Amino acid sequence: MKPNVRALTGRLRHVPAVQDFLLSKNTTIGIGGRAPLAFYPRSCDEMCEVLAVLAEYDMPFQMLGNGSNVLASDAGYSGVIVKTDNLTAIRAEGEIMAAESGASIASILAAAKEIGLGGLSFMAGIPASLGGALFMNAGARGHYIGSEVVSVNVFEEGKICILSAKDCKFSYKHTRFMENSSIILSARLRFRSQSPQAVSDEIQETLAFRSALPKGRSMGCVFKNGPSYSAGELIDRVGLKGVRCGGAIVSSQHANFIINCGGATSEDVMRLICMIKEKVLSETGVELAEEIRYIGEF
Ligand SMILES: Cc1cc2nc3c(=O)[nH]c(=O)nc-3n(C[C@H](O)[C@H](O)[C@H](O)COP(=O)(O)OP(=O)(O)OC[C@H]3O[C@@H](n4cnc5c(N)ncnc54)[C@H](O)[C@@H]3O)c2cc1C
Repeated sequence: MKPNVRALTGRLRHVPAVQDFLLSKNTTIGIGGRAPLAFYPRSCDEMCEVLAVLAEYDMPFQMLGNGSNVLASDAGYSGVIVKTDNLTAIRAEGEIMAAESGASIASILAAAKEIGLGGLSFMAGIPASLGGALFMNAGARGHYIGSEVVSVNVFEEGKICILSAKDCKFSYKHTRFMENSSIILSARLRFRSQSPQAVSDEIQETLAFRSALPKGRSMGCVFKNGPSYSAGELIDRVGLKGVRCGGAIVSSQHANFIINCGGATSEDVMRLICMIKEKVLSETGVELAEEIRYIGEF
């Protein structure tokens, strides 16, 4: 449904908004057409107000954090984008850090380090907003953010609810947020007291480890790993490292990354994704599933 831009911006005139929102400028892979309207709420109350008005107008919408795990269609998105960039408040409560959903993981880790709180250094270098990280249960090297959650405040069925970590159903690359339409407003994460130097050392160690990951515009890992396989290793084994479609290429450094080497379209990326799935299935019997989320029609 095409949004009635004038009616929505009229009703929500106090909320920062952008018309003709360009998805390619708001996704780390740098791909995607336009959405007619995007709202940037500045507080959780404002976010709830936006969501309530969109529900009243029966308007499809898409949440967007840092856009680092999404592939947006070249044709764009016909609904409304709700972008969390302005929800960046972070507060310490003893060993707990409470943050709004748009706060970047980098800024939460930096604030925690300042006051000697560690334990989430495994998240360093993941280019996520808190909301996106919770939605995806992001993590690295066997550790996931869901294990460190105390509670998550969500807007669900028209009201604010406080979910425990158990309610959020965190598992490998799966969460409750993928099953229903709840929107993450803020969350409380459990840290542990350490010296700022020890926290800093752990973060530096993680960043050094990550420096081997491919450079360039990407969405991180495209496919989920399985209990007994690494998607990247399977893609490598079937000989698809370095394969190119238009401006998109399967990284020769890490085969689970697709890089936009300039001018890639969502169609180029989709062609690579389909080729990878077909070849891995026919040669290894494994059906790969995407980790990335799609925006718009494909
Ligand atoms: C170079 C690179 C390295 C990466 N490394 C890792 C890694 O080591 N580990 C890892 O797990 N991931 C990694 N990723 C993938 C990505 O960074 C994570 O999945 C991250 O959690 C996505 O956060 P985001 O804010 O960018 O979310 P987005 O991409 O903006 O959104 C992801 C999904 O979350 C939803 N969403 C966002 N905010 C909200 C909200 N407030 N409420 C409800 N839904 C919301 C969106 O609608 C979308 O479906 C990497 C990506 C890149 C580009």
